[in-house]
Amino acid sequence: MAPPVFAAERASGTRIVLADGTELIDAVASWWCVAHGHGHPAIVEAVRRQSEKMCHVMFGGFTHEPAVELAERIAAIAPPGLDRVFLADSGSIAVEVAAKMCVQYQRAAGRPERRRLVALKGGYHGDTCCAMALSDPDGMHELFRGIMPRHFFAEKPRIPFGAEWEASDFDSMRRVIDEHGDEIAAMICEPVFQAANAMWFYNPEYLVQMRRLCDERGILLVFDEIAAGFHRTGPRWAHEHAGAGAAAPDIMCIGKALTGGAMTLAAVAASSRVAETISSGRPSAFMHGPTYMANPLACAAACASLDLFAAGDYASRASRIERSFLEGLAPLRGFPNVADVRVLGAVGVVELRAMPSVGDLRRVILETGVWLRPFSNFVYSIPPFTASGADLSRICEAIREVCALPPGPPPDDPEFHE
Ligand SMILES: *Cc1c(COP(=O)(O)O)cnc(C)c1O
Repeated sequence: MAPPVFAAERASGTRIVLADGTELIDAVASWWCVAHGHGHPAIVEAVRRQSEKMCHVMFGGFTHEPAVELAERIAAIAPPGLDRVFLADSGSIAVEVAAKMCVQYQRAAGRPERRRLVALKGGYHGDTCCAMALSDPDGMHELFRGIMPRHFFAEKPRIPFGAEWEASDFDSMRRVIDEHGDEIAAMICEPVFQAANAMWFYNPEYLVQMRRLCDERGILLVFDEIAAGFHRTGPRWAHEHAGAGAAAPDIMCIGKALTGGAMTLAAVAASSRVAETISSGRPSAFMHGPTYMANPLACAAACASLDLFAAGDYASRASRIERSFLEGLAPLRGFPNVADVRVLGAVGVVELRAMPSVGDLRRVILETGVWLRPFSNFVYSIPPFTASGADLSRICEAIREVCALPPGPPPDDPEFHE
């Protein structure tokens, strides 16, 4: 049986309204982008106003105010030193752009043999070819191995967030660099929170070790904050869990919540060293320029979203959600079908031993009025930051119902996967 598909007609705040009038709480913020709730009036108004002036104009030979304003504002909130901003069409494209920057940087720096990246097992960086090639090699993209560039992988970080650091957790990365360091342009990871592949929170000391090794070996460090950025795990950027300035990247990708879920847009922030080195090389321009680059409507939506982030205390909102999830989900550890419960900031994850059937899932979604989108062995919530206490209780209740369901067909049933 195929996973449930519902006809969505409207969405507002935390609710998605179906064609038949059924209301569902969006417990996954529509793949984590709807940070301020659906249809936030300030974002809708910003897009409307921009649409009256200019929907689009090519970004080669033209610049425009929404893009300039957005780039300045991203530079202002990016980690110190990351003051060059490149706007990309989506998260996956931002990862492609970051990878291309790393290769072009190394080439301009006189190290053209550095053309590969190192990523982490358990990671996810998107669905386009280069982004897939940096995602977990045994994950959902295995099917496309034949057309993907080959990169190197270190073992998934094993020490959980909050547990005591053990230096051996970094051995695998050290080995990769010992063996292949001279071919490597950059390291990339999802800092602290491996989201779409593993739903796993790891010890931020890993990032400090990465930074140190990158500095020793002339390797760039790329943090993919597309899922974890904008306070999803508490601080604005997940790598801030390592301590102020302890693990600053050379390049950072952001996306998802950037426009608050209004439209697709992502950004890559890079240090001036990266930008200036690229500009000193041949070609001197960074080689990426898609049709809809810096689309003004998307930039306007992002500026409005950044206004909302600036005006609200999203770190406190994340801790409020964290407290609700700790209270509502931790007790599920006692369920026979529950292997683990993990909560950090506005992310609550229950790892199941066996996924229930899609028919049972569909029933729970409709009976509880909570939209959940479990994958692999995970049922989780990454709600809009505007979720009320009552919304969060209902989300926990729905997850509890999923945990109580009997196991469905074995996970190797291909139709069962996303
Ligand atoms: C979602 C995601 C991406 C891909 O972003 P898209 O906008 O879906 O292309 C990349 N990296 C991470 C960490 C993500 O969570």
